[in-house]
Amino acid sequence: MFLNNNVKIGTSLSTAYTLGLRNIRIDVECKTAYLLIGSSCERACDFCGMSKKEEKSLSRIKWPLFDLKEVVESLKLKVQEKKIERVCLQVTCSDNGALLKDLIYQIKEMNVPLSLSKSVESLVEIEAYLELGVDKVTVNLDLVQERDYLSYKGISYVEKKELLIAAAKKFSNKIVCHIIIGFSESEQECVELFNALINHRITVALFAFFPIKGTKLENHPQPEMGKYRRLQLVKYLLEQKKMVFEKIKFDKFGKINSISEVFDVMDRNLSKAFQTTGCQGCTRPYYTERPSAPLYNFPYALSCQEIEVCIKESGL
Ligand code: SF4
Repeated sequence: MFLNNNVKIGTSLSTAYTLGLRNIRIDVECKTAYLLIGSSCERACDFCGMSKKEEKSLSRIKWPLFDLKEVVESLKLKVQEKKIERVCLQVTCSDNGALLKDLIYQIKEMNVPLSLSKSVESLVEIEAYLELGVDKVTVNLDLVQERDYLSYKGISYVEKKELLIAAAKKFSNKIVCHIIIGFSESEQECVELFNALINHRITVALFAFFPIKGTKLENHPQPEMGKYRRLQLVKYLLEQKKMVFEKIKFDKFGKINSISEVFDVMDRNLSKAFQTTGCQGCTRPYYTERPSAPLYNFPYALSCQEIEVCIKESGL
């Protein structure tokens, strides 16, 4: 319906490159195509670039616009060539339901897993997307702590968390939750939340806060790397059932002190702890850091030396 109506859609730069729409240099393979519907958001989260008035950005990356038809045709081809193995539709809170439905239909025809990252309001809405053929739906808490919620998001934490847990119970293994590290949350509060979400079979996608110019939090610092590494490691070990929550020791400030684990840096499986997390195959290259800066989430498998550096950074 929308294909021949000059409708534009955003793609991440890495996706534009993979789809052959932009001739730029990207140094990592990106098999998830990230598409953006909506050029602004009705919500006013203090950390998000989509709630600004001028130049828009979701996280730190830009979303150049292309003709929908061109994107869909190119996507079809790259899926056939196995260059794209997942599509992630990111949708802002704005009136774009008909376009979203149409695009879900187009992508379902390509026979490729589809993730939907959108602010959903109810179980009925989630069920409708799953019935249309979406593989994973996000119910994003974004922030770990209720006290940060009202300050930075201005909506109810309790309602969002209730919806998340109810969705996980009803749609097992279908729900993803984005969590951003870098506000007032302690490590203990993060780990308690990870443990609860993992026990509900919710896929947790970790993000490091990135200050976006022009937002209220443009001067807010990024999280300390040691804290981020400890959280990545612990989340990975809990997900893999290699450790139980009770084994983790915290100090009086809620910092992870010890986890009674000895790491073998030659174990390449540990790479997964520090790689981008979320839906299978999601790499989100440079979403939360500049390519020249230390990587919070690696968009590729780490070498043994890189694993060793990350474990050292964790201090565990
Ligand atoms: S984890 Fe990645 S693929 Fe899944 S919804 Fe989030 S950004 Fe999209």
